[in-house]
Amino acid sequence: METIIVTGGAGFIGANFVRYALDHTDNRVVVIDKLTYAGNLCSIEELNRNPRFVFIKADIANREAVEAAFNEYRPDCLVNFAAETHVDRSIDNPKPFIDTNVCGAFELLEASRKHVAKRDANAGEGFRFLHVSTDEVYGSLGADGLFSETTAYSPNSPYSASKAAADHLVRAYFETYRLPTIITNCSNNYGPYQFPEKLIPLTLLNAIDAKPLPIYGDGDNIRDWLYVEDHCAGTLLALKRGKPGERYNIGGSNERTNLQVVDRICKTLDELVPATTNPLMIGAGLSSYSELKTFVEDRPGHDRRYAIDASKIRGELDWKPDHDFESGIVRTVRWYLDNRDWCAKVQAGKYERQRLGLARDKAGDRQVEAGRAEVKL
Ligand code: NAD
Repeated sequence: METIIVTGGAGFIGANFVRYALDHTDNRVVVIDKLTYAGNLCSIEELNRNPRFVFIKADIANREAVEAAFNEYRPDCLVNFAAETHVDRSIDNPKPFIDTNVCGAFELLEASRKHVAKRDANAGEGFRFLHVSTDEVYGSLGADGLFSETTAYSPNSPYSASKAAADHLVRAYFETYRLPTIITNCSNNYGPYQFPEKLIPLTLLNAIDAKPLPIYGDGDNIRDWLYVEDHCAGTLLALKRGKPGERYNIGGSNERTNLQVVDRICKTLDELVPATTNPLMIGAGLSSYSELKTFVEDRPGHDRRYAIDASKIRGELDWKPDHDFESGIVRTVRWYLDNRDWCAKVQAGKYERQRLGLARDKAGDRQVEAGRAEVKL
């Protein structure tokens, strides 16, 4: 039986990937996760009953802990999802992004290098290190064009810069040590188990609570949305069949402005939980969730448009997404409505959906521009 180490397996994509890998392979899956605010055991709770699932609470930047996991479980491959991931938080405090995304990735590469050196020649050849990265490393697009695997890196936020740094290290470990590494650069994911600080879960949970729906700037920033299960399928394909030393862009060709995304969520909620049946909306005197939309100050350095050319993974690994945005968003909204207890548990004592990432000094901290209503998001 092969063993996959999955770092960050208690986070959004990691929790979905662990389920996907257990369902679609007979591999043992060993999760390493530090359980930051974004990692929650309740996202992977029922997997404890699966004899092929192991959970280790550890920091990927902790060399001893990582080496101990390698020595005990002797992995055949590793998928690195562990990261600090919220751009707004990286603007307020970049340090944890360097510690985990750069130094943590480095420790995983070093442990893998030592591990491969210890394995016998044949088994060593089969080892795979898949590093999960983002399209944000490519920077921002104008109205036209797509990010391909050869687009030059041009990260604009501390988050994307830390991911770019890790990508370069991963690439260098292939070129220098022939560690069999693969990088995937994926577009924006959405779906079950996403921490409610990101656009889609934040919008739909605020709407249900009749709270303002924050739209940064003019709302015309464009993202290319991919349902998380499609990303998991692409990741597993790249892990099992991808070519070492290569990178693969993964994206669903579902470009939407942030405003379109918010409008689509409001429309879905208007159908599934009409405002006229929601006591909080009735109390606020509102008849449609779209009345909650609130334009707020833009994020500093906010990239305008991301869009992925996924023809390489489609052509070489025969990957294609099963969900388009219309079907995926309805599934997602339904999941959050059916899992309000999960939402309450993961936020408890950690986060109240407040605005982050305005790059202001604490002393002069004001949450919105002068002349705009003060909103607690
Ligand atoms: P997430 O924030 O939901 O989860 C991150 C997980 O990593 C959490 O479980 C957290 O506890 C864990 N973690 C953080 N620091 C750690 C450390 N030092 N040691 C061990 N575990 C640690 O993130 P996500 O949205 O699931 O993203 C997963 C990966 O996919 C990230 O590398 C991210 O850059 C990448 N990615 C995300 C998206 C997206 O839209 N969410 C898109 C493209 C790429």
